[in-house]
Amino acid sequence: MKLKHLLILVFVVLSAIPLFVGLQYLNHYYGEHHRALFTEHLASLSLIAKQRILGVVDRIEDSTSLIASRTQMRISLDEWNTTRSDKQKKKLTKIINDAKYGLDHLKDIQIFDPNGELVASTPVQPPIQPLDLSVGNSSQLRLQLENEQLVLRKVSPLLLNHDLVGYLRLTFMANFVTDLVRDRTGLGETGEWLIAVRDSNGDALFAVPLKYDYRASFKRTVEQTRQEVPIVQALRGNELIMNNALDYMGEPVLASTRYLKELDWGLVAKINEEEVNRLISQNTSFIYTLASIILIVAIVVGIILSVYISSPIERLKFHVDKVSKGSFENFPSSKGWQEVKDLSSHLTNIVHTLKDLNENLQAKVDERTQELCQSNKQLEELSLKDPLTNLYNRRFFNERLSEEVQRAHRYSTPLACVMLDIDHFKSINDKWGHDVGDDVLVGLSNYLVETVRESDILARLGGEEFCILLPVCSESSALRFLERIKTDISNLEFVCENQMFHVTCSFGIAVLNEQLCNPGALLKAADQALYSAKHAGRNRVVSYSKDSEIS
Ligand code: GH3
Ligand code: MG
Ligand code: MG
Repeated sequence: MKLKHLLILVFVVLSAIPLFVGLQYLNHYYGEHHRALFTEHLASLSLIAKQRILGVVDRIEDSTSLIASRTQMRISLDEWNTTRSDKQKKKLTKIINDAKYGLDHLKDIQIFDPNGELVASTPVQPPIQPLDLSVGNSSQLRLQLENEQLVLRKVSPLLLNHDLVGYLRLTFMANFVTDLVRDRTGLGETGEWLIAVRDSNGDALFAVPLKYDYRASFKRTVEQTRQEVPIVQALRGNELIMNNALDYMGEPVLASTRYLKELDWGLVAKINEEEVNRLISQNTSFIYTLASIILIVAIVVGIILSVYISSPIERLKFHVDKVSKGSFENFPSSKGWQEVKDLSSHLTNIVHTLKDLNENLQAKVDERTQELCQSNKQLEELSLKDPLTNLYNRRFFNERLSEEVQRAHRYSTPLACVMLDIDHFKSINDKWGHDVGDDVLVGLSNYLVETVRESDILARLGGEEFCILLPVCSESSALRFLERIKTDISNLEFVCENQMFHVTCSFGIAVLNEQLCNPGALLKAADQALYSAKHAGRNRVVSYSKDSEIS
């Protein structure tokens, strides 16, 4: 897969997946949110409507109380009941006409005697409805259809000195109810108000014309058993939000139910579910459109970026391939590429040279290091050795003496220390010259090196004086060994100016013991033994004893 396509894929995947997930979340969230808003809105509308109706009812109640409180009216009615005189009837008619004056919403007033017979009335279109005393709560405000007109009727008993003297019936225009149900502001296209009263069977009786059934007023009912219908719930006194409830048409609706206890009315604000879902999905489609635009923009930006990023890399790769295949001759600017090739080969040579140099340098450094190590070792050897005889010097000997004394103590092994001195060496120098003296020193040293054991320590302490440490060697063994050496040395042949001469040596031995228990004492004892040997005539071996101490 080309880099460009890979980048495009990555951009698309990176922008599409989070967008898709985010979209699902937004959809869900907005769906729930909008439904909640709708529900809240519907509940608020229904509550406002309920309060408006109750406000009007309060005014009607006030008007009724005001009229019913007229004492003269009740006295006249009482007199009418006993006298049946026209005078009282006229009086009553005048009183109620006066009372009606100024109350526009009051349609008419009638006064009935205790038997429900009409006594007086404000002007009214016939026929006058008889007073229905059979209704249980006769003082309740009742909504009625009169001459195709919705009215509210209030019957109030008139009492004089606690005695019933008759009834006052007020009929109010119920325009505000029809106005309310006609105003469907906020209920969308399918929404409507429903107001129902309870009929004699207890079923819900629609009091106002319905949007989809204009003639339903006081004709259409919903059985009280159909609890899934919002208006039935409203009349049951339940103030609810009902989702997907069935309305009188059997349509699923979102409804808010209210109950007006003072009137025994049910009030419902409802809107078809189909419209609710449509409005919600309008928001959803807005989100989808927005998301699609963002997705397209993201993809386009992704493609542009991918091309922008990948083009130079792919071009470079193409040229590198060309160069590596050597096919740049076909390349349009082959001269330029020849220069690049030359430059590249120069660079390669430089790199190789640098690499060689680096490797050589490393080899040289290693060699030098080795040389330095060797010369260090040599220097160290030199510092420990006598340059003439190549034997170890006094410094080295003293170190080894301390070690061997410690070792002998630790392992309880014998240790013999021998001092050796050439006899009359001065006279050799004097007779044959200093160089011959040196030759004697070298010749003697070589002999001693060949003769002593590997484990023995041989050193030139200075001048013509030597020392031999014999670890794990008893005094007797040392004596036997030195006697042999003494003889061998005296047999060594030195030649100078065609003349042969010999040398002898004197030996002093000291062995590590309780008295001679440290290096200093041991060396000193060997030296004293040597002195004794010299004193005794030279060319001999003398072992240290207390007697050999110089007084
Ligand atoms: P003795 O038997 O008592 O040891 O007598 P000696 O002559 O050997 O001892 P002395 O100490 O009198 O003389 C030692 C001489 O050794 C003196 C000195 O010139 C000589 N000598 C010391 N070191 C060297 C050296 O490196 N080379 C040569 N050729 N002679 C040396
Ligand atoms: Mg000496
Ligand atoms: Mg000497």
